[in-house]
Amino acid sequence: MVQAFVDEIFSSVQGEGPWIGERHIFVRFMGCDLRCRYCDTPAALALEERDKQGRPCRVQTSLRSFSTEDVPNLLSPSDLTQFCSRLTIRGYSRATLSLTGGEPLLHCDFLGSWLPEIGTTYRVYLETNGIHHRAMQDLAAMIDVVSMDVKLPSSTGLRPFWEEHRQFLASAAGRDIFVKAVVTGETVKDDILQAASLVSDLDAAIPLVLQPATGKWAPKPLVLLELQEAALGIVSDVRVIPQAHKLLKLP
Ligand code: SF4
Repeated sequence: MVQAFVDEIFSSVQGEGPWIGERHIFVRFMGCDLRCRYCDTPAALALEERDKQGRPCRVQTSLRSFSTEDVPNLLSPSDLTQFCSRLTIRGYSRATLSLTGGEPLLHCDFLGSWLPEIGTTYRVYLETNGIHHRAMQDLAAMIDVVSMDVKLPSSTGLRPFWEEHRQFLASAAGRDIFVKAVVTGETVKDDILQAASLVSDLDAAIPLVLQPATGKWAPKPLVLLELQEAALGIVSDVRVIPQAHKLLKLP
């Protein structure tokens, strides 16, 4: 039976991107193969088996409380279905499941088993680092919305992933997609221009979201406007959107 290491399951508002403010159920998978220097989800970074062993999954106990219970990992598809059902608002026609992490596409086999079970109950919203194009291709028919990060080397401190991103966008074509770039105080205009060109090559109407990093990585406010202006010369929909859940002190 396929199983997955899951870090937490909770209900909150979507705090990022064009669907900001919608009520979503979040399933945060453990493990990510990148190490972006601004990463704000360190608990999801465990990649090696030894890092994951013994870590329980925190599951919100009900919609009316922020309290959680610890559930032993690993979790099965039916475990996840049961926990998500507990957090589903009855009668809400746009019930949405946000698959987040970490990097959910590292759990491709698990998602391939689970998503067909729940796809008619929920709109499936994938938050991804935009690198695992083969997994995206395999799962595309089961995913409704793709929130794809474009990893700017000047923001992440990592090598560029332009080619991986290009293939990923091609794999996600036909889904409801937007591209998100985290902007830090280190972000350079050339990276934003390259990201905008990447989007434009697929479809210049795909929204490009510039998301300011927080804390010590936060950019200067005027830089956000300068980068937006630069990208608007290439793609038609460039939005500066902060992380609303942090402003609201929500999970
Ligand atoms: S891809 Fe996301 S989860 Fe992974 S290190 Fe970067 S910010 Fe963190």
